[in-house]
Amino acid sequence: DYTVAANQVTPESIDQLSNKSFPLCMRMSHEHLRAHHHHKHDGRRQYGLFLKGIGLSLEDALRFWREEFTKKVDNEKFDKQYAYNIRHSYGKEGSMVNYTPLSCLTIINLSYGAGSTHGCPYKIFDTATLKTKMTSYGISQIHIQEIVNYSSKGHYQLACGKYFEVVHEKPLEAGINHPNQYFEQSQIIMG
Ligand code: SF4
Repeated sequence: DYTVAANQVTPESIDQLSNKSFPLCMRMSHEHLRAHHHHKHDGRRQYGLFLKGIGLSLEDALRFWREEFTKKVDNEKFDKQYAYNIRHSYGKEGSMVNYTPLSCLTIINLSYGAGSTHGCPYKIFDTATLKTKMTSYGISQIHIQEIVNYSSKGHYQLACGKYFEVVHEKPLEAGINHPNQYFEQSQIIMG
């Protein structure tokens, strides 16, 4: 289980961290939030718990989500509709359960529908969309082909591991089974 990382992550550092050390699912979650200033419930849960796991404090999480969401809704609506859920995910409301970040298996098996903003991209996106995305990140066509060879056969976590190796130019020591494990392994290399 991944709970809270020892190092503190600030809202200001997330853009840079997402480019360097986020797996594709979370990098795309972050891009979606910056571009649309919104996430549906499961998208907020998936990304919010990941951020909690990498060390974003509750106060900083409220500030981070508020800054984006209030580009579309007012502060009052944010407080009413979203702030409670964020405090809840940090174990500060309702049943006071201290929720842990979602594993790859959980994310891969979440149901996904039109307008959803969560999920594992290696599962939910077709090959052409994945290729376009990774080309925009500067990954070579040879490497992209290796990655989509895995995802198109349903080996999503192997595709993710290959992407890790390509981005970090280093072999993976253990297969990817958790977005927060991906992040931690990346930070060891990228610092
Ligand atoms: Fe995210 Fe796991 Fe999918 Fe990688 S395999 S993109 S870490 S859900």
